[in-house]
Amino acid sequence: MAIQQKLSLMIPGPTPVPEKVLHALSKHPIGHRSKEFQALVESTTKNLQWLHQTQNDVLTITGSGTAAMEAGIINTLSKGDKVICGENGKFGERWVKVAEEFGLEVIKINSQWGTPLNPEKFKELLEQDKQKEIKAVILTHSETSTGVINDLKTISSYISEHKTALSIVDCVTSLGACNVPVDEWNLDIVASGSQKGYMIPPGLSFISMSQKAWEAAENSNLPKFYLNLKSYRKSLRSNSNPYTPAVNLVFALDESLKMMREEGLENIFLRHTKHKLAISNAAKALNLELFASEKCLSPSITAIKTGEMDAEIFRKTIKNKFDILLAGGQDHLKGKIFRIGHLGYINDRDIITVLTAISNILLGMGKVTAQQAGEALLVANKYLE
Ligand SMILES: *Cc1c(COP(=O)(O)O)cnc(C)c1O
Repeated sequence: MAIQQKLSLMIPGPTPVPEKVLHALSKHPIGHRSKEFQALVESTTKNLQWLHQTQNDVLTITGSGTAAMEAGIINTLSKGDKVICGENGKFGERWVKVAEEFGLEVIKINSQWGTPLNPEKFKELLEQDKQKEIKAVILTHSETSTGVINDLKTISSYISEHKTALSIVDCVTSLGACNVPVDEWNLDIVASGSQKGYMIPPGLSFISMSQKAWEAAENSNLPKFYLNLKSYRKSLRSNSNPYTPAVNLVFALDESLKMMREEGLENIFLRHTKHKLAISNAAKALNLELFASEKCLSPSITAIKTGEMDAEIFRKTIKNKFDILLAGGQDHLKGKIFRIGHLGYINDRDIITVLTAISNILLGMGKVTAQQAGEALLVANKYLE
């Protein structure tokens, strides 16, 4: 029997929210022009720069992750600009849609869903561009729809060699889960959202802007008002916002960033790596096939093929029986895969619980033996140690 109040979110956003953060959300709002709020803007901004490993401006927008993605494009590019978009999943597709909506000329670099983007294809196109017509390279770091992580480090090094093109990257399910050193990798524009690695509810998005991105902003002619980042930069100089921000979500952000600082970047990354390895290897021990190629598994989401079994029925069963919410497949993958989100406020117990629940259902269906179910847990345990 399901108990909704104990529902465990194992989806790639919204992710579970720590008690401290929930308490922060339930406080009375304060005036957004008050000294107290300015102090919060100052401390959250500093901590956001720490999380991004950057000296660049990191701006907070009230809106979901897509708001930051759109802001990145409309603030730095102009109608007719030529851009490269990497597309190997649903979120890569979203970039293409946004870029085309604003009249950009999109050159796609595709890779089959479940496989990573090939960095050499980026290199080739960028090297051929002697006239420097390519204004930006736009891609998704961790492709949430397939559980693939793209080799952003290598791709961004090729973008840097081109010199003119900006890098515009969706790091929504990589920031706060694995290393994204914005300055070291020379990332110009990085978008992320609160309901993922940040451990707070949906409603805020973040965008990091390099000096080069601000220079490009001077020439951008795409229409913008609410998402005009120059207004955000201007008010940030006095630790303020151009419009009324989601005050309580900023309370929550302040708490969650403090928690992240306490844990430390290295530990956060290690925890996500361990969880990824525990889940992917235990799944294999249960005769389940991973959807993404083994060498490029995202630290935040594992996509699992269900073969003849309907993934939607599997998800429904696990939710009804164990109050665990898993994500399904999107588009043509619906019914074919399920995805386990292990991003943000997730501990070893969550991993053991979800694996046990999956084993239990497979056992009931006669798909695995009790011996195999036990072995899968041993495998998981090995990686959790
Ligand atoms: C969740 C997510 C987004 C943001 O989606 P919103 O619903 O707008 O918050 C963008 N990219 C990726 C890869 C995501 O996982």
